[in-house]
Amino acid sequence: MPKLLEGRSALILGVANRWSLAYAIAQAFAREGARLFLACRGERRRDTVEELAEEMEDAHVLNCDVTVPEDMESLTGVLEKSGRPLDAVVHSVAFANREDLSRPFIQTSRSGYLLAQEVSAYSLISLARATAPLMNRGGSLTALTYLGATRVVPNYNVMGAAKAALEASVRYLASDLGPSNIRVNAISAGPIKTTSARGIKNFSKALNDVAERAPFRRNAEPGEVADTAVFLASDLGRGVTGNILYVDAGFQIMAL
Ligand code: NAD
Repeated sequence: MPKLLEGRSALILGVANRWSLAYAIAQAFAREGARLFLACRGERRRDTVEELAEEMEDAHVLNCDVTVPEDMESLTGVLEKSGRPLDAVVHSVAFANREDLSRPFIQTSRSGYLLAQEVSAYSLISLARATAPLMNRGGSLTALTYLGATRVVPNYNVMGAAKAALEASVRYLASDLGPSNIRVNAISAGPIKTTSARGIKNFSKALNDVAERAPFRRNAEPGEVADTAVFLASDLGRGVTGNILYVDAGFQIMAL
């Protein structure tokens, strides 16, 4: 069977360690034959990400803090020099201060709100602006979001507001980039134990509640999120843009 991403180049942001959803996505993209550029934040993480990249056939590691314009510029410089058009970009990046994921939402500070928005939502817009010119044969941009964008999930708080902005940005970017045949979508993943998720107060309760009430009576798995990202980046997803796809064991349909 032909591989779904053979001959394609993909940039994936947000690999921090083996538990990152971006790592599961990178593994699935590598399995499907993609050439990979893995962007991570900070030199400290780079060694870990280099080790993970070695497991993959054609994966290169770059540094990129999405809040640093020079990092974004050097990222596009490296991609340009690679000599091949870019076909897919995955934005798997988010950050909020720990205290804003535990105290009442009404106590969110201005600086904490702006930080969460800058890293978790605005970065999709700057990333789209930086990478769209490299996707000169069309392409796909996929972000990661969560149900807390549209419903109240205890302690998700400031990140819920950031994900709401991210989801709206997906739709506006899809409208801007559609004429260039660049599709923009988000995957709304169910709760999965990762480093970021552990920063949310009582996260294990969210895992247990979903496993109890979701139609599948279990939590979503990283591999399921990753395979959906493959679908969106491949020709199979060619008719889909501006969408939020739920990969959450069905939890989002339940009211009670
Ligand atoms: P993770 O901690 O492994 O990944 C978050 C990534 O964001 C890390 O690689 C971190 O380095 C990166 N990051 C933070 N600030 C950055 C910056 N300034 N510049 C560049 N990168 C920066 O956790 P994860 O759960 O894999 O998160 C990935 C994405 O999935 C996030 O958008 C998250 O909101 C989303 N998501 C996660 C879950 C879940 O339950 N784990 C559910 C739905 C959506």
